[in-house]
Amino acid sequence: MIQHEQVTNHLMTPTASDFFAGKCPRCGQGKVFVSSNPFNIRKMAAMHEHCDHCNLEFSPETGFYWGATYMSYAITVAFSCFTFAISTVAFGFMNSLSLNYVLVNGILLVLLSPVFFRFSRLSWLWIFYKRG
Ligand SMILES: [Zn+2]
Repeated sequence: MIQHEQVTNHLMTPTASDFFAGKCPRCGQGKVFVSSNPFNIRKMAAMHEHCDHCNLEFSPETGFYWGATYMSYAITVAFSCFTFAISTVAFGFMNSLSLNYVLVNGILLVLLSPVFFRFSRLSWLWIFYKRG
């Protein structure tokens, strides 16, 4: 009976909430990062080598996460478009083109960079290992 439950858990399809929770892309159970708090700067980039549930290797080859820089770029551009849209609705289009928007958006990007860092690595990992 226990073996049957383990097999069923192993085959669960990961969901979007598993992605945002930093879970394994194959089983949706094991945690990818050592610390669940991305603002813990000392452990921000620390990742488990394998999924503790399905044993998926999280760093399959040297330099695997170089591609995550493209994801980081896409995430920061999408975030900046989002904040620009909010600024345009709140303060008007011409005011959104001001230096104030650039400064506020830049500060937000720096403050949220640990979150973007993790999402870029997670999205890169999920692109390659998401069960179809
Ligand atoms: Zn797993």
